[in-house]
Amino acid sequence: MIKKVGILTSGGDAPGMNAAIRAVVRTSIYNNLEVYGIYDGYRGLYEGKIERLFRKSVSERLMRGGTFLGTARLPEFSNPEIREVAIENLNEYGIDALVTIGGDGTFRGALALDKMGIKCVGIPGTIDNDINGTDYTIGFDTAMNTVIDAIDKLRDTSSSHRRCSIIEVMGRNCGAIAIWTGIAVGAEYVASKETGFDIDDIVEVIRQASRFKRHAVVIVTENLTNVDELAKIITEKTPFEARATVLGHVQRGGSPTVRDRVLASTMGVKAVEELLKGNSGCCICEVGNKLVAIPFEEALKMEKDDLMDKYRALKVLW
Ligand code: ADP
Repeated sequence: MIKKVGILTSGGDAPGMNAAIRAVVRTSIYNNLEVYGIYDGYRGLYEGKIERLFRKSVSERLMRGGTFLGTARLPEFSNPEIREVAIENLNEYGIDALVTIGGDGTFRGALALDKMGIKCVGIPGTIDNDINGTDYTIGFDTAMNTVIDAIDKLRDTSSSHRRCSIIEVMGRNCGAIAIWTGIAVGAEYVASKETGFDIDDIVEVIRQASRFKRHAVVIVTENLTNVDELAKIITEKTPFEARATVLGHVQRGGSPTVRDRVLASTMGVKAVEELLKGNSGCCICEVGNKLVAIPFEEALKMEKDDLMDKYRALKVLW
């Protein structure tokens, strides 16, 4: 039976991580477990930045974006000798189980630790929604709301000036933010890893739009193209003047939405319950509105196939 639980956040931060930490802390205490916060992800675990947490340690955290435990990257964590040091640090505090909140890299680290005897359960926290085992990751909903708020504002000004707004959003490995928000704002065009990038097609759609619209919205994921260059091409080849806006890290911040707070809180409870049942080497996933524990390896290799269906809807609706 486990007695002491450690909690860390790793990889990119996401709104709702604090709500998940709070839930893990309070569920642990409710079940008479001691709980320890590990600062700055696996880097802090390696450096021994560990501190006991209490109910009050997580007061007033639920509604705040980011992660109060901090996050960092430590690529060397794939080296077993580095993980040995981390395990020695856990042993020093008698921590026998870990909850790790983050993306697929974080889960790979947790899986590697689990195989070395530390019981690990993961919680998916990433704005990109790129963990295939779960329908939703913590932070995705908040990030999308931030994006549509920005695009709605850009649309107000671009339709006054008869402009095309090109918005670069996050999601170099997964176009979920781009495609979902594209539907939500009625974008004329979305380009992501999944949809591909075809400049002639974009120009043709924007030309058509210019015949009966006062604005056009093009959403592009980061690293796909240079959005300033794209703006120049659209300005040259269509009747619209185009301007590019890179939303950047603003997408990671902000107070989590109801959906993210509830998802994070219930996943945090479930993670500790799984550890209490003796389960580990798995992550908490939402599948069809139910929380389930899925082995890391399975969750990482599953296919999520909803994006191209949504993209088809988007192509019809503009
Ligand atoms: P995310 O969790 O958001 O995908 P990263 O890919 O940066 O973010 O991963 C977070 C951290 O997880 C890395 O800095 C590293 O410490 C650890 N990690 C990633 N991949 C592995 C791996 N294959 N083995 C062990 N640890 C890993």
